[in-house]
Amino acid sequence: MHVIVIGAGLGGLCLAQRLRQDGISVSVHEQDPTPVFRDQGYRLHINADGRRALEHALPPRLWRLFLATAGTPGPRSVFLDEQLVPRWTAEAEPGPAPLAVDRLTLRQILLSGLDDIVTFGKTCTGFETTPTDAVATTNSRITAHFADGSTVTGDVLVAADGVNSVIRRQLLPHARVVDTGLRQLYGKIPLNDQTRELFSDDMFNVFTAIVGPRNAFIGVAPVEFPEPIHQAVLRHAPAVRLRAVQDYMTCSFGIRGEHLPRTDDELHRMTGAELRAMVLDLIDSWHPRVRRIVQEWDPASIFPAVLRTSVPIEAWPTTAVTLLGDAIHAMSPAGGVGANTALRDAATLADALNKAAHGRPLVTALRDYETATIDYGFAAVRASADNGHRFLGQNPLPTA
Ligand SMILES: Cc1cc2nc3c(=O)[nH]c(=O)nc-3n(C[C@H](O)[C@H](O)[C@H](O)COP(=O)(O)OP(=O)(O)OC[C@H]3O[C@@H](n4cnc5c(N)ncnc54)[C@H](O)[C@@H]3O)c2cc1C
Repeated sequence: MHVIVIGAGLGGLCLAQRLRQDGISVSVHEQDPTPVFRDQGYRLHINADGRRALEHALPPRLWRLFLATAGTPGPRSVFLDEQLVPRWTAEAEPGPAPLAVDRLTLRQILLSGLDDIVTFGKTCTGFETTPTDAVATTNSRITAHFADGSTVTGDVLVAADGVNSVIRRQLLPHARVVDTGLRQLYGKIPLNDQTRELFSDDMFNVFTAIVGPRNAFIGVAPVEFPEPIHQAVLRHAPAVRLRAVQDYMTCSFGIRGEHLPRTDDELHRMTGAELRAMVLDLIDSWHPRVRRIVQEWDPASIFPAVLRTSVPIEAWPTTAVTLLGDAIHAMSPAGGVGANTALRDAATLADALNKAAHGRPLVTALRDYETATIDYGFAAVRASADNGHRFLGQNPLPTA
């Protein structure tokens, strides 16, 4: 069995690591020219699902390196008003402590040891099944097509190609991704003796939201490495190459698009310094310390994002083409679990493919996986949309 994975994001790479460990043939095809090409946020909070998936996917030395580069923030989520008056606190779920990791560091760890199976600069444009009306039978083959005219053929095709998935558009043209109405600017503040003083102890928890009028909010969350990255690499996996990253605080600003003075196109054309100045205008009456925090935003790190969500759909007939992560259940960041759900998919799909490799009919194994992800994945989409609606003014999910 050969598994083709489109997309070397968190979900696709976690799946590839696990399949490689399990001895299942896999290749990954990524559109970006390099692993450090895109702005997709800085900090990721890894919950019990994400942790479990990574522990089973990574070889022991990479798992130890992951733990050695993962910060352990305070376990709570803290909500303050714009004058920094505490409003409420949410305790972490029982279980292992949540981790705060740097996205690029995690992606580099996930890429380690996969040089021979991950190809960059390959933009998938679609797929075909041979014979053309086949579902997942032992005789069907799936061919993925790429923009450079090349193709790759295998037995299973996994769409791990994120929120704009071309494979989802072809396989499930009725599945919709809609605007949440929210816009968010992401950036970071390097943590040093001077900037640390801006943040109260509370702000070193998993996530702190400072919420002001019109549901505008500043979100802060720490990424603190337990030891310098190069030291962690030397101790656990000297052959791995990780970029040096210093401790930082992620800082984001979110608000409904109509409350911004600029259009989406204008936001994408603005420099980091201009975006920061715009936010400082919008939070003019907020607590002076919040304004000082925003003033420390590294302009080079700031980028805007239009937040979108998938709309849950009913189960579809299973074929040898399946989907994971944002390709099927992109969600509002209000739940903070998009990446964790993609990692959980990778673990669940790897289990299913292992069973197929040991005799379970492929279509049955893939249906088991799809039944599971439709259940927990769309539950996460709904919960994130509800949170986003209640706290950030996100559009409710369309009902039809
Ligand atoms: C700014 C931002 C901040 C976020 N912060 C958090 C957070 O703090 N916590 C959290 O849990 N989640 C967060 N998320 C959500 C999280 O990033 C996603 O849920 C997660 O990355 C999904 O993983 P994935 O593997 O499904 O998709 P992705 O990680 O998006 O990977 C998809 C990959 O497919 C590639 N690709 C796309 N199209 C093609 C094609 N046609 N051919 C080949 N390759 C293709 C892409 O280049 C990409 O590498 C954030 C998202 C954004 C945008």
